[in-house]
Amino acid sequence: MEVLTGYKTELKLDNKQRTLCQKHAGAARFTYNFGLVRKQEEAKKRKEAADPSTIKIPTAKDLHKEIVKLKHTPEKNWLAEVSKCAPQQALRDLDSAYQRFFKKQSKYPKLKKKGKSQDSFYLEGAIHVGDTWVQLPVLGKVALHEKNYIPTDTGEGATVLREPPTYSKNTNGTNKNAAERKKEREHWPIGTREFVSATVSRQGEHWFVSVLLREQIAPMEPAIGDVVGIDLGIKEMAVCSNAFTAHNPKALRGRMKALKRAQKHVSRTLPKAGAPPIKKSRRQRKKKDRPYDPNRKRSERRLKQWAKAALKPAVTPVASSALSGTANQGKNRLKAKHKIAAIHKRIADMRKNALHQATSRITAKAKLSGERPKALIIEDLNRKGMMQNHKLAQAIADVGMYEFERQLTYKCEQQGIALYKAHPFFPSTQLCSGCHTMPTKHLDLSVRTYVCEHCGLVLDRDRNAAYNLRWLYTASTAEMDACGEIVSPRVLALVAVSKKQEWNTEEDSA
Ligand SMILES: [Zn+2]
Repeated sequence: MEVLTGYKTELKLDNKQRTLCQKHAGAARFTYNFGLVRKQEEAKKRKEAADPSTIKIPTAKDLHKEIVKLKHTPEKNWLAEVSKCAPQQALRDLDSAYQRFFKKQSKYPKLKKKGKSQDSFYLEGAIHVGDTWVQLPVLGKVALHEKNYIPTDTGEGATVLREPPTYSKNTNGTNKNAAERKKEREHWPIGTREFVSATVSRQGEHWFVSVLLREQIAPMEPAIGDVVGIDLGIKEMAVCSNAFTAHNPKALRGRMKALKRAQKHVSRTLPKAGAPPIKKSRRQRKKKDRPYDPNRKRSERRLKQWAKAALKPAVTPVASSALSGTANQGKNRLKAKHKIAAIHKRIADMRKNALHQATSRITAKAKLSGERPKALIIEDLNRKGMMQNHKLAQAIADVGMYEFERQLTYKCEQQGIALYKAHPFFPSTQLCSGCHTMPTKHLDLSVRTYVCEHCGLVLDRDRNAAYNLRWLYTASTAEMDACGEIVSPRVLALVAVSKKQEWNTEEDSA
């Protein structure tokens, strides 16, 4: 079985590598904007043309050909300094941005602005990882801050192959397509590792690499442990029917104050309208503007330095501020911006860590098949609807429910666990988990303890919901379709009855 896993970690760049990274990110941004403008131009021509079918909107492939031509012009020859993957992927990203726009999933793609948009680029090719370094195309060996985080594919003691086996060809001599390649990989030895791609991105003043590792692993024994129902919530991130509770770190809420303070700081350092450009410091001015005076008195040390410098070939230095798009910003403003980026990163890290710990605990990673749940049941919350509720939206986004589901999905797949979603109308919070009857009164979100009026059950509200989800599995497993969707008429009937009940009670109380 092959699994794809992404590993993201911070790079330890030297000055040359940092400049090269900025160049790559700049090339990706330039290409994206170039492609967007070209597409718009052709679209405009098409609108005005007598026969619109004669004008073709350029695709990523067409645009890349234009970029390759640009590489050979004196104005844009800096494009030749970067890996071809960076502009290629930027054009692919542009295509998918358009597709998302046509599907009405997102807004019309915008031009990326230097210093404002996220700096990042994509690499493919010879990627290898050692214990303290990662080898990337064009950039070469780059040191990592974290040791032994990414699984290595090289070095002493590595049990894996240095290079994965090469693909064989089809009988008629043609190369295999993606599906055929995947099929062939199934026969590769267990433990074969292959780094598919790397994405380098900047966050504030830190640079990160995210490598995608494809690994052949032995398939897990299917899990046979007890079924677990999971209630996702805001107060607690997840409450399970097996007594496990994952707490919500409330990452954003806890850092809101610090974030607001930092944001205020940035707006205070904003140059006022009509203000003169930020002056350079006296030292900066002096350095550049002072004419060379051979008769000035100088120390021995300085003279030696100059003599040494004169021997080196002349290079025009590129100011880092010019590359990161911060040329006309004050230093304090930049510092304040980096502070915000640091807080955002901390929030994201806290959230991610909590989510990973929770989903790993629930799927009982690294435990025997008897201890791993054979099935997990989660709610199918109408989260888009919930996001429209302004009050809840931030809280839900803060928990990261989408990410929770995504992680749970792939971890279940790896651990041999079945994952089910309950029907969106299943009243998991309303039902009594003891006697499975509906209360006559609608339970409000503020009521944290469930008290059953029929059997006298007293239970935490979220735990009750988790028990109900587990019960739903046993009540409907006999009636599942081939896709594993829960389509039990019994459950649906229950839904219909409960909907009516809810509606009635609300009218009664009104
Ligand atoms: Zn009851």
